Amino acid sequence: MSIVVQKFGGTSVATAEKIRAAAQRAVNTKRAGHQVVMVVSARGHKTDELVRLAEEVSAKPSTREMDMLLSTGEQEAVALVAMAIHGLGEKAVSLTGGQIGIVTDSTYSKARIRSISNDRIKGHLNAGEIVVACGFQGIDDDFNITTLGRGGSDTTATALAAALEADECEIYTDVEGVFTTDPRAVSAARKVSEISYDEMLELASLGAGVMHSRSIEFAKKFRVPLRVRPSFNNNAGTLISNRSEDRVVTGLAMAKNEARVTLGDLPDQPGVMKTIFTNMSARKIPIDMVIQNVAVSGKAEVTFTVPEGDLAETLTAAEAAVKELGAGFVRSGTHVSKVSAVGSGMLTHSGVAAQMFKSLSDQKINLEMITTSEIKISVLVDRSRCDDALLAVHRGFQLEQSTAVAPAIGAGQVATARASGPENADRLEAVVSRLASMEDIVVSEVLLDETQARVSVHNIPDVPGSCTRIFTAVANGEVVVDMIVQNVSHSGQAQVSMTVPRTQLEHCLKVLKTCIADWSGATITSEPAIAKLSVAGIGLRTHTGVGERLFRALADAGINIQMINTSEIRMSVVVATNQGPQGYAALKQAFHLE
Ligand code: ADP
Ligand code: ASP
Ligand code: MG
Repeated sequence: MSIVVQKFGGTSVATAEKIRAAAQRAVNTKRAGHQVVMVVSARGHKTDELVRLAEEVSAKPSTREMDMLLSTGEQEAVALVAMAIHGLGEKAVSLTGGQIGIVTDSTYSKARIRSISNDRIKGHLNAGEIVVACGFQGIDDDFNITTLGRGGSDTTATALAAALEADECEIYTDVEGVFTTDPRAVSAARKVSEISYDEMLELASLGAGVMHSRSIEFAKKFRVPLRVRPSFNNNAGTLISNRSEDRVVTGLAMAKNEARVTLGDLPDQPGVMKTIFTNMSARKIPIDMVIQNVAVSGKAEVTFTVPEGDLAETLTAAEAAVKELGAGFVRSGTHVSKVSAVGSGMLTHSGVAAQMFKSLSDQKINLEMITTSEIKISVLVDRSRCDDALLAVHRGFQLEQSTAVAPAIGAGQVATARASGPENADRLEAVVSRLASMEDIVVSEVLLDETQARVSVHNIPDVPGSCTRIFTAVANGEVVVDMIVQNVSHSGQAQVSMTVPRTQLEHCLKVLKTCIADWSGATITSEPAIAKLSVAGIGLRTHTGVGERLFRALADAGINIQMINTSEIRMSVVVATNQGPQGYAALKQAFHLE
């Protein structure tokens, strides 16, 4: 008999009426001949209320007690749902994370799942019962209650679906499905019918609140198709699987409360990145938009973003890194927001970045930082303009329209996909099958790309429109840009670096020369051959240990890093061309992929 997992979010079980509706849905599914496992979140705003209460009784509540407290929200909800099912004449049993046997590590408030024993659930299912499981929680080896992080019930549902080899995992929520961006922020947002794991993973990790990003890691690793559906009608919602709509940009995400941190005046030597990443990883701080400015007068400067809530901890870690490096300063800035565009189509289209920058500069929105990876572009903007930015980019890509529109700038579809395509599915499966713990890091492949050159433009006017001008010129010149990083240094001058095919370098330089002709002080530097090293896998940015291992391996091999880009599915660095093969070997060894 097939197993169906149905997860109900907080708003979908907020009232007695909604609880009965959720129960009815599970009962209908059971009566249609399936075994049903429900995963339920705390009702309504229960978790927020408990957090507030804890903060009222203690300035710094213990994380263990916090998890003990927050887990009660789900416990209340499952009991009520089970009772409602009994009222409808079916058998049901509610179970806590501990009773199910969801074993996690002991990192309170962001615990990771190690294993799930499905014996007990299977027993209940075979006895004809609907199992109503608490989302968001587990127990560690010492029977302490742990929670998986806010929004973690999605992860419980997907993990259970994986462990039980369920046929379907349905995520019932308060919207019609996954939208092109948060429909609460952009009223013209459109529901998408299909989205790929990779796209959803990026969107979720970049701020789309609709799914917990770790749930998508599970879904991809264990090939669980997910369907995000409305709990208030019978519409089909959005299917998250290997497929996606055929669009260049699928969706946008915004992380409103971000902070930027700069470590400057650092020694320009191998190991700088390793020291920074190691210190961040020790505190499980996921850093994003990492930019290393091309070193000036022997000093390196690294800037990155973190969620504002992690800033205090990040600054402590950054000070520790500077101390270890023996020189440098730390500076930070708040009031910034990150807006990201995500789409698998970026792999095969040029001009996407130019289009995004144009939408923003048309609204006179300045770009403080830019980073890209294979399937995403992120920009950092002043928080006062973030809503305008999201709206402008949504309009620019015509995301409200259901028919695909190619970007207006540049050559459109490029003949060949960029050198680095999606990772090999078989290899991924082999790595997943060796996982000791369900949420272990998955790195399935190391790649070396020796086809690229680097170009940097220095002393760019730090005003809206500069990057649009550069990337419009480059896209109109049909140059296929791969990585882009842009940063404003403390002297107020912007600098942008990009990688382009070696074969297009001369042409690109000519285009850029004309483009910057009337910017006084602007200069271009380039390197005709660089090596791009990448590791591919799942959940690479949120599992902070991947960056640490990558940068440690390269530092130990004496390799200096010139550019970085990170995403959940790939982490890439640019190094000198003659160090490519050596770096490749070091990474293969570090990730046991020889
Ligand atoms: P649940 O309690 O069911 O888990 P959440 O509040 O966690 O629900 O997630 C649903 C909410 O996510 C929606 O109400 C919506 O405002 C928000 N959201 C953010 N980004 C998106 C998006 N891209 N598509 C749909 N909803 C989104
Ligand atoms: N109740 C938890 C929260 O509010 C978990 C969840 O809803 O997924 O974060
Ligand atoms: Mg949620």
